[in-house]
Amino acid sequence: MGNLVDPADITPRQVANKSDKKALLDAIRMTLSVQSPAVRRNTQTFNRNRYAATALLPDYDELKDRARLIKEQAIANSPELLRQLEAAVRANGGHFYLAKTATDADRYIRDVLLRHEAKLVVKGKSITSEEIKLNHALEAAGITVAETDLAEFILQVADEQPSHIIAPALHYSRERITALFKRKFTTDLPLDTGEELTVFAREKLRQQFIAADAGISGANLIAADSGSLMLVESEGNIRMTMTLPPLHIALAGIEKVVPSRTDFGTFIELLPRSGTGQPLTSYVSILHPPLKAPSFAAPGKTAKPREFHLVLIDNGRSRMREDPILHEALYCIRCSACLNSCANFEAVGGHAFGGETYSGGIGGSWEAGTGTLMNARFSELCTGCSRCVTQCPVRIDIPWLNENLRQRMNALQPESGVKAAFGAVTGSAPEDRIAPLQKQFFANYHVMAKEATRFSSLSNAVTGLPFVRGLMENFVGLDRRRKLPPFPSKTWEQLHRDQPGDRARSTNPGLPHVLMFADVFTNYGSPERGMAAMRMLRAAGVNVELSPSLPDGRAALSQGMIATASQQANGLAKTLLPYLEKGTVICVLEPSVLAMFRSDYEHLLDATTWEKFARASFLDPLQLVLSVAKERGTDLSQIFRAGKSPHGTLVFYHSHCQQRSCDAAWQTIEILRSCGFDVVTSSVECCGMAGSFGYKRDYYELSMAVGEDLFAQVRAAEQEGGQRTLVASGTSCHEQLWAGMGREVLHPVEVLVSTLD
Ligand code: SF4
Ligand code: SF4
Repeated sequence: MGNLVDPADITPRQVANKSDKKALLDAIRMTLSVQSPAVRRNTQTFNRNRYAATALLPDYDELKDRARLIKEQAIANSPELLRQLEAAVRANGGHFYLAKTATDADRYIRDVLLRHEAKLVVKGKSITSEEIKLNHALEAAGITVAETDLAEFILQVADEQPSHIIAPALHYSRERITALFKRKFTTDLPLDTGEELTVFAREKLRQQFIAADAGISGANLIAADSGSLMLVESEGNIRMTMTLPPLHIALAGIEKVVPSRTDFGTFIELLPRSGTGQPLTSYVSILHPPLKAPSFAAPGKTAKPREFHLVLIDNGRSRMREDPILHEALYCIRCSACLNSCANFEAVGGHAFGGETYSGGIGGSWEAGTGTLMNARFSELCTGCSRCVTQCPVRIDIPWLNENLRQRMNALQPESGVKAAFGAVTGSAPEDRIAPLQKQFFANYHVMAKEATRFSSLSNAVTGLPFVRGLMENFVGLDRRRKLPPFPSKTWEQLHRDQPGDRARSTNPGLPHVLMFADVFTNYGSPERGMAAMRMLRAAGVNVELSPSLPDGRAALSQGMIATASQQANGLAKTLLPYLEKGTVICVLEPSVLAMFRSDYEHLLDATTWEKFARASFLDPLQLVLSVAKERGTDLSQIFRAGKSPHGTLVFYHSHCQQRSCDAAWQTIEILRSCGFDVVTSSVECCGMAGSFGYKRDYYELSMAVGEDLFAQVRAAEQEGGQRTLVASGTSCHEQLWAGMGREVLHPVEVLVSTLD
């Protein structure tokens, strides 16, 4: 990322539109240099609070199912609901306007305000108003807009776009706010505490509320049957915006309409918990405008009659509704759980992992849907780790949306003979041969790895040469600072073939029998680890045979090469189907591949084949061992005695992001502890390496910045109780920990096997 501009001099607005790749890279540099500590602190606090708050919901899963169903049905019936809503608003005495475009909405609101001769408008937080750039439109017409949400007030003073859906100024530390206010306002106040800053802002805002001619709010949800609005907030400013001035304009996207006011309850349960982790926000307003109570009038003035306008905007949403993939983004209730549970977002926030309006994993679909596809370029920062999927209250498959955006962006690339030839040689599907060389290189890792392993001494010598690393960096974007793990002289398949004794034992009748899937990452990268997994299973009383090693599509999917991923998935399915049909359990060592079989294949296989996959048992090896031990009453501590491990009993364990999303991580901790290991676990969402992500020159710094949280947790654990054996369950996590800590990293299976005679 060679760039002469000091990242501290880059302003968020300059890099808001990331259709140009340079803007994305500059934004990453700027946020890492300036905003990262505040973004990390705030998002990680929200994230911890969300885990705690949702754990207290006994019906969390049912609530999510209900929320999803309400939104699915509402979007499916959107035209009918809009007609119903219009009738309800008019019957209530309000005005209704459905704006096709952002410009239409701006024009309508501006005209209403001009008709009322409004000079000053107070505004509650509304991301939709950012989308349509309402403040610009109104200010151009001579109308002053006062943002009344504290965070929006800060951003208005700083002239920045929001960096987070619910906490727009989350990238500001208290010290930076103090410096900003002192720079922009004349005051003798110290402004050294949060309280002083709030009092200062409140004094300014109070004057605006008193003098305001109109109030503009958003809406979290709108009920079609009654025209009622639901708004959740922490500061009470939105409630004042809607109730004090005589003229109230509510602005929202058409996706906010749900059938009935009774639907609000489900979302009131989920929204605050998923966002800030609060059981309820300080203010929940359910409003039925226009209000009957008189509007506010300053002493000596007469209250004006109330008027209410509901402005709903389409601005691409109807197109999204028709889109087979992007329609899912319309279910979003803007809670921010997907931002706060995303390790990359936690490191840089929405000024890098975001566009002009929307941010985070879900933001790409919104920028593409309401703007242009290339505005969604920042969705490249989605590594597909899947941590957000289980946190989303409406169960949106965010990585799948981003993989599709990537595919669409790949398709806009210029054709070239080199790319086409490279794709043909490496096996990319014909439609994916237009993808950049870098993507095709990472998508077809197994082809390169297979050849490199055949001539491992030569490959390791060549890839160690600085000039070769320079070439690889220039041509396929493989960062030269990232150490490459050496290629083994024998693959997992070869090692297994070379040990006939092991294969003989694997047919012991009477024991559970499983197929161990030889994923390409372990086969070409860590064959000894694969062998250890098989030895561990046998020691625990499981018969195991090894599958052929075939590409599973994970690497291609992460590059947005969906046709290639699908081709590989369908090829692999042919090999596994006979086993699935017999009911054989498939054991999968690499968590990213486990996640493919368990969920991503739904998108890549035909419906009949997927049905068979969905019914089959795909298990992590330690998950399998624990379940067999429980079933057979085996005491694992008698087989794997921690005291016998040459690595000692102190362990720091980091589980892979996708392994946790598959609910296949806690079993490892339970086994290690029950066998006598003293286990400290990491609490990061992802290590930052995320497959090929950490290898890419463009994202190396971000990957290492994300990893720093994990490394810090290792250091903290070791400061307290001495050095621990580093243990991780995914290939990427191994490489990241190795890079950050400079020490050997083991897999849990290697730790357990080390206790055997
Ligand atoms: S899949 Fe992972 S990287 Fe992508 S948005 Fe979700 S949490 Fe972030
Ligand atoms: S995608 Fe899901 S988790 Fe993310 S903001 Fe929307 S509703 Fe919340």
